Amino acid sequence: MSEHTREAMEYDVVIVGAGPAGLSAAIRLKQLDSELDVVVLEKGSEVGAHILSGAVLDPCGLNALIPDWKEKGAPLNVPVKDDNFYMLGEVGKIRIPNWPMPPLMNNHGNYIVSMGNVCRWMAEQAEELGVEVFPGMSCSELVYADDGSVKGVVAGEFGKNADGTPGPGYEPGMELHGKYVFLGEGVRGSLSKEVIEKFDLSNGKEPQKYGLGMKEIWEIDPAKHKEGSVTHTMGWPLGSNAGGGSFIYHLDNNQVYVGFVVHLNYENPHLYPYMEFQRFKHHPMVKELLDGGKRVAYGARAISEGGYQSMPKMVAPGVALLGCSVGMVNVPRIKGNHNAMLSGKAAAEAAYAAIKDGRAADELSDYEADVREGAIGQDLMKVRNVKPLWSKRGLLASLTVGGFDMWTNTLGFSALGTLGHGKSDAEATGKASKFAPIDYPKPDGKLSFDRLTNVSFAATNHEESQPAHLKLKDEAIPVAVNLPKYGGPSARYCPAGVYEFVKDEKGDDKFVINFQNCVHCKTCDIKDPSQNINWTVPQGGDGPNYPNM
Ligand SMILES: Cc1cc2nc3c(=O)[nH]c(=O)nc-3n(C[C@H](O)[C@H](O)[C@H](O)COP(=O)(O)OP(=O)(O)OC[C@H]3O[C@@H](n4cnc5c(N)ncnc54)[C@H](O)[C@@H]3O)c2cc1C
Repeated sequence: MSEHTREAMEYDVVIVGAGPAGLSAAIRLKQLDSELDVVVLEKGSEVGAHILSGAVLDPCGLNALIPDWKEKGAPLNVPVKDDNFYMLGEVGKIRIPNWPMPPLMNNHGNYIVSMGNVCRWMAEQAEELGVEVFPGMSCSELVYADDGSVKGVVAGEFGKNADGTPGPGYEPGMELHGKYVFLGEGVRGSLSKEVIEKFDLSNGKEPQKYGLGMKEIWEIDPAKHKEGSVTHTMGWPLGSNAGGGSFIYHLDNNQVYVGFVVHLNYENPHLYPYMEFQRFKHHPMVKELLDGGKRVAYGARAISEGGYQSMPKMVAPGVALLGCSVGMVNVPRIKGNHNAMLSGKAAAEAAYAAIKDGRAADELSDYEADVREGAIGQDLMKVRNVKPLWSKRGLLASLTVGGFDMWTNTLGFSALGTLGHGKSDAEATGKASKFAPIDYPKPDGKLSFDRLTNVSFAATNHEESQPAHLKLKDEAIPVAVNLPKYGGPSARYCPAGVYEFVKDEKGDDKFVINFQNCVHCKTCDIKDPSQNINWTVPQGGDGPNYPNM
């Protein structure tokens, strides 16, 4: 590629990812000093195209960043009016009353939002302040200085052939250099993964844990719609096979977000998270709500669940990890957007102070201290034992002992200390021979849909002539190890049908990667039991095109 030289552009701060974390950092930097040069690079075709957290938003992050967000027209239009928790059986349900729940579980004062639309609005605010926001720009490589510090990123490389060589319209992209580089890539970011490994940032921390979140938007019968209503369920259909649960949020315009999260530490490799989600919609409570309605969008994304004890060190020379690149989701609340915003703000304040002092390319340790000791750390500390209790002792222990621990932590002490998570989600996967296969009912095409039909509602698109962005470290492992030992779980854990085992013309097993279907959820990178799949960014603009998820 020697004939293809890359131009370089210099900034004060280069920000990867136009999610709530990256955009908050950009806005805060320009609020502090309008002269700073700040750029935000986003792989989605537009800001919001890859944002899937349709969402109950705790506005504390936005209040801190843009206190007059209401006057500025932020799309927070649906306040939460009622909060319901149910434990589901196959046909019945038990309502868990709100009164024993610790106050932090209360959604009063929160809003049901499309985070895609919130991010679109935040990008407008950033641009008005002078931030350069470039969607359709995947950051595919980190650039290091001679002293090993992170100096920038490569963005905007387009037009490779399937074998990785430059194609006819090849564009080498640019290097964007910054005094500091912020990685706001969200959960399991590809550059963040490299930084965590290179600088050994997880040393001494618990492994990060994840869930797979799948979501559909439904338009339902107006007579059944209850704007502002929030429902969470646990129990059926997962039972003891896996942790997880559902969410049903009624936004405006007769639309409902129906979502389902499966914790990725499940052992039984026959489990098929997507089909669990489809089956869930046949529960009488959900069926009654959705009957006569229409599914208008589908998407999936991993969610970080490790909490306080899994947060890696978040700074290294020249670079800081923001939001869910670190993993800042409060698991029992299923909320991370507020912490993503607060982390962006904190990183911006640390970088501003450093640049003012003439510093560059060092560790922003004030940012790390702010996250661990400030509002984010306090939010995550109170709930740190819920996930380990659920993983090791089951749902009931997590509800009772975990609920008690949340209460005592709210009052300022914990009887349990800090529990560990143990294995990574990949290591938790058991051998196929130890478990019976699970028989899933066929989708009916009204409430439940086959996977590929649903993927068409994610409007995902990848230029087919480029190399697959899902890279195998060893091409032999899927058929030689994962198929015989784990029953080929990628064919089931991927919510977009990217992976298949088929027979070739000789009747031998063959592994196929349909990378065009990928919705960028990152589950394969997390759950592959052999840790053989590396999710890398495809060229900019590829991937899902979510409307108002
Ligand atoms: C199903 C589900 C439901 C959820 N529900 C809620 C909820 O109700 N309330 C709540 O508060 N939180 C919720 N969350 C959690 C919330 O989504 C995250 O905490 C939040 O998105 C983290 O924000 P972020 O900015 O760190 O990352 P993200 O929102 O993931 O944004 C990252 C951005 O960076 C871009 N990007 C990534 N890598 C690159 C690259 N290399 N180059 C260029 N661009 C890149 C991505 O395309 C994306 O736009 C939910 C999550 C899921 C999966």
